[in-house]
Amino acid sequence: MLKKMRRLKSLKFYFGLISVVYSTLMAIPFANAGEYQQALEHADAIRTSNISQFSQELDQLAPHKDEFSAEEKAFYLFLSFYLKALHGQFQEAVNGYKNLIDDTPPKVIEIRARTSLVNIYSFVQNWQDGLSQLSVLLSQLNTINDQNVKEQIIGIAAIFYNSLGQYQLGMDYTQQYKSLSSSPRSQCAAAQLEVEASFGLSTVTSDSDLFAHNREICQQAGEMVMVGLIDSFKIRSLIKERQFNAAMTSLQQQLSTIENTRYAPLMGLYYSLIAKVAVTLQRWSEVKNYADKALATLDQPKSYQPFVRVYKALYEYYLHQNGTSSALEAYKKYAEADKAYLDDIKAKNLAFQIAQHQSIEQQNRIELLDKQNKLLTLQQQLTENESRARRDMLIALFCVSAMLLVGIMQARRSQRRLRLLAERDGLTDVFNRRHFTALADKLLKQAGSQQQTVSCIMFDLDNFKQLNDSQGHSAGDIALKQVAAVAKQHCRPQDIIGRIGGEEFCIILPNTSQQQALDVAERLRACFEAISDAALGDNHTITASFGISETQLSGYALEGLMHDTDQAMYSAKTEGRNRVVLFFEQLRLTLSPQPQPS
Ligand code: GH3
Ligand code: MG
Ligand code: MG
Repeated sequence: MLKKMRRLKSLKFYFGLISVVYSTLMAIPFANAGEYQQALEHADAIRTSNISQFSQELDQLAPHKDEFSAEEKAFYLFLSFYLKALHGQFQEAVNGYKNLIDDTPPKVIEIRARTSLVNIYSFVQNWQDGLSQLSVLLSQLNTINDQNVKEQIIGIAAIFYNSLGQYQLGMDYTQQYKSLSSSPRSQCAAAQLEVEASFGLSTVTSDSDLFAHNREICQQAGEMVMVGLIDSFKIRSLIKERQFNAAMTSLQQQLSTIENTRYAPLMGLYYSLIAKVAVTLQRWSEVKNYADKALATLDQPKSYQPFVRVYKALYEYYLHQNGTSSALEAYKKYAEADKAYLDDIKAKNLAFQIAQHQSIEQQNRIELLDKQNKLLTLQQQLTENESRARRDMLIALFCVSAMLLVGIMQARRSQRRLRLLAERDGLTDVFNRRHFTALADKLLKQAGSQQQTVSCIMFDLDNFKQLNDSQGHSAGDIALKQVAAVAKQHCRPQDIIGRIGGEEFCIILPNTSQQQALDVAERLRACFEAISDAALGDNHTITASFGISETQLSGYALEGLMHDTDQAMYSAKTEGRNRVVLFFEQLRLTLSPQPQPS
């Protein structure tokens, strides 16, 4: 029961946030305000501030459904699906909204329904459907004159792109939203979104004026939840800059205000931040206390970043208390939460790539149809005016046919893009594990038949978790991209590079001896050390541990070759990291003793 209530609270928070964007729309009067219009408008106005009354008022209206005008009916349906979403019945709400949209309701209702869909999709982390609804909304922008509706669409785009981690797009729409926003509430929403996008883009530091300035806007509007969110980004900046004492002071100063808002996700966020900072300050009783509080407050989805933070803090706590089995338990949960969080980031990236691809595809299709139409019109004119300017027409016909051909080629190119998407890792653009394995297998079979030497290099970044933990996952992602770029730069076109695990890569080098592969690996190792990027923090050096084997030692089966290379890499880790180890026969014996012949 308690859990259900908490969940409701967090949903309310979520839709409450969005209602900032809606607020301006509520005042739009319908053209033929009927008898029930006022009652519907009243229910609409209280839908986030008093859910139970909202629900009661809808119940009272239900028996009169048959007397509604078409507009009132659409409005009523919209509100009843909204209520379903508030109660967490997302599938029903989604189906309801889709049917409503199919029945061509008034424009305002259609847009509100689509906006709600985007919210739900973002809440249930269905990024792909969210993006496709959002693109419908954005494509209607040019045809809409009503400033309020425009404001609403741009606002939801800013919210959605920010939660998708596409902060540059989030920032672009936030700036437009800021210039359109008419009420103090929407100005505050824009201020919060601006801080979120700036933090995501790493364009702010803890002493930036933006924090104080935008906080003031929300304070003036009386939006304390938003104030709390803005403050949390300032605190996260302090943590990023390793100013732990200052971060702790701020957290403790804000805590009672945050608790007064009674918004569970915000409270959970603060508790999780306190637990994390307390670990670095070695204030162990606070670690446990606030981690427990956070767990009692937070709810789904588990991929939510605060969970990662809390379980990590608990793990450190138990480790410090020597509670090995509890530490292990907490560590497992931390790893699960971290994986869910990373999976979600990957799903976001993939959804975004697919959406980009689809919009190119759509554009191509439209252009192609357009060209086909032109061709038909020209053919028609040709028969009608055969005598007139026949030659000119033929030339024109030829030109259009050529254009059509170009269109077909574009469509092919777009198909190729889709294939590439399936073969490559979205983050680093090297081959994904599946495609890497297929290519390497094929190459080894061929090399085997000609007894040609093939080498295999495998490397795994050192202490990568530490980088993620101290600088955030986005820094980790930047490191992965940089490392892959270096590897591509130093390999030949015939070499096959794959990302075979989170921060683990493998390179197959045809016609290469182990000694030659050693040169390549040493070059890579040195270049990784030299990578510098502001996002990685001032004195963070990227290093990796390398293993190398070759077909003369390990044979032509990919599995065996990778197994031996992996053992060499493991050896590089245990010998102290940031080094290259060549596989040799003895290693096989040391690490996995062969069964003795009896
Ligand atoms: P070691 O030197 O022993 O390899 O230590 P490590 O910390 O690098 O090794 P571990 O395997 O414990 O940690 C790897 C981490 O890589 C776990 C996970 O959080 C992170 N990771 C995996 N995939 C991604 C990704 O796509 N992006 C980011 N930022 N991190 C990732
Ligand atoms: Mg590693
Ligand atoms: Mg690893």
